[in-house]
Amino acid sequence: MLKIGITGGIGSGKTTVCKAFEALGIPVYYADAEAKKILSSDPAVKRSVKKLLGDQSYFSNGKPNRKYIAALVFNDKTLLAKLNEIVHPAVALHSSRWFESLKNEYPYALKEAALMIESGSYKEMHQLIVVTAPENIRIQRVVKRDKLSEEEVKKRIQSQMPEMEKLKYANFVICNDGENSVILQVWNIHQKILKRKAH
Ligand code: ATP
Repeated sequence: MLKIGITGGIGSGKTTVCKAFEALGIPVYYADAEAKKILSSDPAVKRSVKKLLGDQSYFSNGKPNRKYIAALVFNDKTLLAKLNEIVHPAVALHSSRWFESLKNEYPYALKEAALMIESGSYKEMHQLIVVTAPENIRIQRVVKRDKLSEEEVKKRIQSQMPEMEKLKYANFVICNDGENSVILQVWNIHQKILKRKAH
């Protein structure tokens, strides 16, 4: 199975772009959504998170206290890195099983993750798509979607690798600035991937 990674900063529009690929029949593994599920369901992950961030990281019903966790890790780079070191390997294992389960029934499959480059998981992909958008647009999108303050969004942006850095790893770039057509860019990349695969 040809594995294509898709990444980009918070609010760049990764998920929106992936929906366009799905419309072309391409399966997508949403790593960030899976990571959230793993955080609430994987017993070994839960144990490690409690050890790192304290028992308050989980409610008595076993669900993660996401606000508490976010408040801690988005104010402390070391803690964020340690949390990622717990969650990323579990997601990596889960996603590689997902790719295997597809059994070559599709021309390629996508894995979407915000921290694909930072975590090193891009190395497991054959090619990488980076989604970009101007920072002010990303901030406004996330403020609207997540009801966060501008300051909170800026803090999250600063905890991620700058967009310019990410572009160095890209085989394909999608500019999701609200002006260039996402559908057209996705279609062109889809055709290029199919062509490269045929050679
Ligand atoms: P995150 O990393 O936070 O999960 P993301 O990169 O997956 O974000 P999306 O969730 O796809 O980004 O987009 C962020 C918000 O911006 C969503 O509410 C989405 O509907 C909106 N959005 C994305 N692209 C566009 C666009 N081209 N025009 C208008 N709104 C858009």
